[in-house]
Amino acid sequence: MQKKYLPVLFAVLALTALAVLVGMRTARAQTVFSYAEEKTVYLTFDDGPSTVVTGRILDTLQEENIKATFFIVSDRVRGRENTLRRIAAEGHTLGVHSATHDYRAIYASDEALLSDADTCAAVIEHVTGITPRVYRFPGGGTADFARQKQLLTERGYRVVRWNAVCGDEEIAHADAAQLVAESIRTAGQRKSVVLLLHDSAPHKATAEALPDIIRYFREQGYRFAAF
Ligand SMILES: [Zn+2]
Repeated sequence: MQKKYLPVLFAVLALTALAVLVGMRTARAQTVFSYAEEKTVYLTFDDGPSTVVTGRILDTLQEENIKATFFIVSDRVRGRENTLRRIAAEGHTLGVHSATHDYRAIYASDEALLSDADTCAAVIEHVTGITPRVYRFPGGGTADFARQKQLLTERGYRVVRWNAVCGDEEIAHADAAQLVAESIRTAGQRKSVVLLLHDSAPHKATAEALPDIIRYFREQGYRFAAF
């Protein structure tokens, strides 16, 4: 071999070694990822639909290719039927939250609780053709939670609580950065995170925080799922 080709040979060898090293790193990263895939975040949005905030949240979920769960207040559907249909059409789960979100009326009796859920479910079904199968208690439920949960389970619902919050109802006038920080703080090291967010009209900061919330959990190796 002529001496002038030596640098070329050296460069080829160096590039080959580099490719092997990168390949090993990628393989190692994939091993870690397949373990991390079991970590799951359920993004759950209560109290909608609203026109602007729900719309912005749906845009973000679409861009990120993530499915979420929306617990609906059916009294807020009128005039926003297209938003409800969009939630369904884009593959998210529609759940029952309440017809009125009026705690005093909802928790007045077992009959009132079930009738409220039935009314909400009927609206969702009428507008979207989908029969909702998940339920979230307005205000998280009462001291009588276990018994009321049993009633709703017998009615055919899976009752879904939460184990982390973004703070959009808990922290007054929280900005997007605070909501991201609160999501991270309350999720802690949980492997399965059910994050409570709200998509009702006042919660523009929640829509604003969502891309950063998603980025954080992605970076931590979580996958996203709907109920
Ligand atoms: Zn609520």
